[in-house]
Amino acid sequence: MSYTVLARRYRSETFDDVVGQQAVAQTLKNAIEGDRVAHAYLFNGTRGVGKTSMARILAKALNCLTFDKPTAKPCCKCESCIAVNEGNDIDVIEIDGASNTGVDHIRELRQNAIYRPARGRFKIYIIDEVHMLSTGAFNALLKTLEEPPEHVKFIMATTEPNKILPTILSRCQRFDFRNIQANDIANHLKKILTDEKMEAEDILLRRIARLARGSMRDALSLLDQLLSMSDGKLTLELLDELLGTPRSELIIGLVEAIGQNNLSAALIQVDKALQEGLALEQLGQALQGHFRDLMILRNCPDDTELVDLSDKTVREKMAEQAKMFDDAALVYNITVMEELLRAVKTSGSGRPLFEAAVVRMTVSERFSDTKALIEQLQQLQSAPASPSRGNPVTQSQSAPAAPAPRPAALVKSETKKVSDPFNSEKKQFTPPETLDIEFLQQQWQNILSEIEKRGKKSLVAFVQLSQPLSWEEQTLTIQFRPEQNGMRSLLQDRPEQMQEIGGALADVLGQPVQLCLASVGAVDTNRSGKTARGKTTPDKTEPEPAIMPQAKPEPKASSAKMPPGAKPSQTEINEAMQEPQIRNVQEILGGKVRHIERGKN
Ligand SMILES: [Zn+2]
Repeated sequence: MSYTVLARRYRSETFDDVVGQQAVAQTLKNAIEGDRVAHAYLFNGTRGVGKTSMARILAKALNCLTFDKPTAKPCCKCESCIAVNEGNDIDVIEIDGASNTGVDHIRELRQNAIYRPARGRFKIYIIDEVHMLSTGAFNALLKTLEEPPEHVKFIMATTEPNKILPTILSRCQRFDFRNIQANDIANHLKKILTDEKMEAEDILLRRIARLARGSMRDALSLLDQLLSMSDGKLTLELLDELLGTPRSELIIGLVEAIGQNNLSAALIQVDKALQEGLALEQLGQALQGHFRDLMILRNCPDDTELVDLSDKTVREKMAEQAKMFDDAALVYNITVMEELLRAVKTSGSGRPLFEAAVVRMTVSERFSDTKALIEQLQQLQSAPASPSRGNPVTQSQSAPAAPAPRPAALVKSETKKVSDPFNSEKKQFTPPETLDIEFLQQQWQNILSEIEKRGKKSLVAFVQLSQPLSWEEQTLTIQFRPEQNGMRSLLQDRPEQMQEIGGALADVLGQPVQLCLASVGAVDTNRSGKTARGKTTPDKTEPEPAIMPQAKPEPKASSAKMPPGAKPSQTEINEAMQEPQIRNVQEILGGKVRHIERGKN
């Protein structure tokens, strides 16, 4: 049993069947009904948008034997209609410009055109890829077009109208075929599958439709291939297999590494992909597509149909990843991949180029968002890394003057003064039965490291830089320093994470904990924990980035509560500049050190 490809089996048969070209179909119908059919038509449009199908429908309409004049609704059953459908009607001659480029063929055409049609009303020449004709052939054709016999019609189709002589163009009525909308293609595929008694996920059909880029023929041949591979249900995985698309975990892993600025992990991930036999181009395209999807997810509603993701886990993972990048970084990454894909085509050293592109993206992300950069910096510095030198902390000249929650080093030194709940022998954290805010504040970092020990490191990252503000009725309100507002809003957008952190805290503290975020600008002015929750301060207290280029001298407002040494000496500045992190920031942002605050040891 031979298999007829879908594109042939499901070719549109009437003007009303044509998918995505309603405007052209309607105009032709009107012309037929109004007896205004032109001598020559030029159908212009990219491949697979229905030009040939429309030409055949027009031919049937002109010659249908069921009616005694041209009709907008050919019967599709008479001898003429059937022969046209099969492409072997004696009066409808199909010429492929690509294979009949010679002048001889056209001369023959001219001679034959003189004779009246054998059966139909018209002798119809359908010339596909007409732009491929040689100049000699064009000229010969032109002669026929100049004085066409009454019984002759020309329907020419092209993908490149600019290659057609203006003298020919001027003698044709031109129709521009649109690329078919992805939605129209998807709906058509669905209809076909229903006829075939096959099932497919809608999302798969949308994906095929998008891959086909407006060409129904391409969509149908993809579907043909899928059908030949499948043993029942058509799935996205099957399509990935067909196209050699990398598995989504692989790309997710790679993008995660890039987002975390983890160069070594990113390069290992690339190696893994290549070891699986993926071509650089496919990997690059998949990566670019992934960044594109992240960009869409960042900017569209969660359930947007602009990304084709059927797998719920993958979708959730990607929604998370979308928050790792800002739009600028994503646009940058897409551009880097574009350059790479072009370079890979012409270069013999694809792999190094690919790895270099990954390095570019991994490093660039670090610098794309000043706020995140500064957060990162402070995160690094609050870690008890270089205790001997103290940790110089740059502070915004305009930051609110409240005593900020101290980095880990300082908090730790204080813990020694209170009863130590950390039993070193049992290596267990034993919380007191009655919690109060002092305890929570002093033990915060210990509590967090306890959560970390219980395998919830990723949760801790969210609140590492926060400080407890109040504890009332099992509700723990934490606050972030104004510089950490990025982290704060990140957390605010993630109620699930808040809940998880609350749960982890409850685990460690042995009692229910509801976690709550203090409003922006709420400052820790009341160590007794009685500060009202939900206190807001106007937006103008939003801090400037820690280091501002051309920062002005110390403002009056903040000087009052500043620790001694608010104006650092040149030596101190020089010393601070020895810190690689500070030097990095200075290089990138071009700022100056205006203020140094030391963490105690
Ligand atoms: Zn007919």
